[in-house]
Amino acid sequence: MSFLNNVLDTVKRGCEIGGFPEEFYEVVSKPERIVIVKIPVKLSSGKFTVFQGYRVQHNSALGPYKGGIRFHPDLTLEDDIALATIMTLKNSLAGLPYGGAKGGIKLNPKELTQKDLEAICRGYVSGLRVVLGEYVDIPAPDVGTNSQMMAWMVDEYSKIVGHNVPGVFTAKPPILHGNPVREYATGFGCAVMSREMANKLLGGIEGKKVSIQGFGNTGQWHAYYLSKMGAKVVAVSDTSGTVYDPSGLDVELAIKVKNTTGKVLNYPKGEKIADPQASLYVDVDILGPDAMENQITVENVGKVKAKIIVEGANGPTTPAAEMELAKKGAVVVPDFLANAGGVVMSYLEWVENLQWYIWDEEETRAKLEKIMKSNLDRTYKKFEELRSSGRAYTMRDAALVLSLERIYHAMRTRGWI
Ligand code: NAD
Repeated sequence: MSFLNNVLDTVKRGCEIGGFPEEFYEVVSKPERIVIVKIPVKLSSGKFTVFQGYRVQHNSALGPYKGGIRFHPDLTLEDDIALATIMTLKNSLAGLPYGGAKGGIKLNPKELTQKDLEAICRGYVSGLRVVLGEYVDIPAPDVGTNSQMMAWMVDEYSKIVGHNVPGVFTAKPPILHGNPVREYATGFGCAVMSREMANKLLGGIEGKKVSIQGFGNTGQWHAYYLSKMGAKVVAVSDTSGTVYDPSGLDVELAIKVKNTTGKVLNYPKGEKIADPQASLYVDVDILGPDAMENQITVENVGKVKAKIIVEGANGPTTPAAEMELAKKGAVVVPDFLANAGGVVMSYLEWVENLQWYIWDEEETRAKLEKIMKSNLDRTYKKFEELRSSGRAYTMRDAALVLSLERIYHAMRTRGWI
């Protein structure tokens, strides 16, 4: 099954559980617009190369399109369609006034100079200028892109239209109307989800044991805020392996070690395990699979002991493994709910930009926390409602139904179906 087919299957399942009509699935399963642009660039090496850029604008029933731009050597248009579909679901579930989109260019950013990347970013915006805009389509970074690239893009767009338009891209550097909370928004949002689930199912977060797989942007901040909230982070991993200490890790030290030496295994204390997957099997209350997709599968799910799994990464649990976890009584907080902190923060940045207004860091974080908590509460309530039917529904099912419900009502009200 391709990634796109998996995503469409999920949408179909959501439509069936929610009892939505077939015509709704027909519309919500297809992008509204796909734009392909050519980006000719003379690279620093002297080689003339024509890059191909995509923008998939999937659904605009709830508002302007919103979604990241991915630079990856294996990117395909089909993947971009799948990712744009996920963004439609994620934005809707988060209660944001956005539809979904995704864009990208098939390239390896590690093989290009900063000058080349700047030329490519500017060429991408120039090619797409007529379909972008602060009220039309608002991209952000994704895998392989970063805030500097958003700065080049917002600058290029502003030059084209003749005035500063900060709200057309989000996750910009703070000096160009970004917000400092963006740096940790995804991991912070995951920590809020973990804490709220612990409050619901385990009587609170204080002293609860946590393991985090993947110690990058999402995993580090997930661990950092959970430790600040009173949890005991006993294991973290990256591709070098897992570091484990049942008495609790010093998370700030682990972050420092990881970011200065590149490996968590250089953490000076605890047990070192060469297998990065070992972090998935530690006896903990909460597990954050925050690295990448397809980590908890039918092959290894038997070894997972956590009661609550908060998916910081996209797609870390396969559908079959999730069913096994449900049978064991474990609950998975699905990716498009758990890791929405980044896009919710992007929304807050956009609101600031549209009004040229600035919230301070504390105020912004409080707004982000409130939205994340409320999304979790709504989804959990729906989960309980679905489960009361006696059938084996998951939190992902509840999230899907809620997300599709909003899109469906917007489409109905607009008269699209
Ligand atoms: P990142 O590159 O900053 O960090 C990834 C980390 O995972 C690295 O430490 C890497 O060593 C580790 N890793 C990779 N494979 C591993 C494995 N098999 N076992 C253990 N560790 C492994 O990436 P990120 O931005 O933190 O993204 C991680 C995941 O979160 C991705 O699925 C991404 O799509 C998702 N996500 C990120 C954001 C965000 O704002 N950063 C938002 C939404 C979703």
